[in-house]
Amino acid sequence: MFEERVVLVTGSSKGIGKSTALYFLKNGANVVFNYSKDGPHITKLKQLLSEFEDRYLLCQADVSDVNQVRKMFKEIKEKWGKLDIVVNNAGITSDGWVMMMGDQKWDSVLDVNLKGTFLCIREAARMMSRSKSGVIINVTSTSGIKGQPGQANYSASKGGVIALTRTVAKELAPYGIRVNAVAPGFIKTAMTTSIPQDTLENYKKLIPVGRIGETDEVAEVIGFLASDKSSYIVGQCLVVDGGLTI
Ligand code: NAD
Repeated sequence: MFEERVVLVTGSSKGIGKSTALYFLKNGANVVFNYSKDGPHITKLKQLLSEFEDRYLLCQADVSDVNQVRKMFKEIKEKWGKLDIVVNNAGITSDGWVMMMGDQKWDSVLDVNLKGTFLCIREAARMMSRSKSGVIINVTSTSGIKGQPGQANYSASKGGVIALTRTVAKELAPYGIRVNAVAPGFIKTAMTTSIPQDTLENYKKLIPVGRIGETDEVAEVIGFLASDKSSYIVGQCLVVDGGLTI
């Protein structure tokens, strides 16, 4: 389905990003796997990717650092000469109650989740506008829609991503670039396994389908938004949360 397309998924060494990048790879695309820090999970990823030979690029870059982002886009241009799809997935949490939240906690989350998304959109738009086509999908969160106590920084960053999505969707549509967002609820990844079991059980009671989502269930929706099947969907935020926010 995505043969000949070049796809960048930020933060794709694990979790939702990894499932999404593998989804594109298995569906024929050339895929850039971006990650911020080396570790045993990168060694595991390299083993997994070896069967895909020349259809992938592993790119270490902190999305909140403009120079590292520029270097990553330069590498993509040198390897494939174009970019068709970008999934801005890289994200972090650093929870705390607002009265106790230090500046560092606030800045680090806003820098990665919101500024990182902006930096990648800017570089992608510059590349895509030349070919008058492209798709950008930003991964936000239900916390950015309804607010989550203990996550002022995270919720603000993800709310910002939704507003950013709507704005750049309007700006970039005339250049043939379609921008949308996906807002997952609770999904089984490292981000949610750090939540204490009893708290997680309480959250499950709030989810109409009664379970935490799988990363593949988000990847499929991102795949749909990246495909021509969604060619008339622009500036939307698709919620993937088992009914949590209804
Ligand atoms: P995860 O912690 O499993 O993976 C995060 C990925 O982001 C990793 O690959 C990590 O290397 C990368 N990353 C972190 N900081 C980075 C940086 N500065 N530069 C580049 N890469 C960086 O997280 P996840 O649960 O898979 O979350 C993925 C996205 O989905 C995030 O944006 C997150 O906010 C969002 N989300 C997750 C959930 C959930 O329940 N897991 C719910 C809603 C939204």
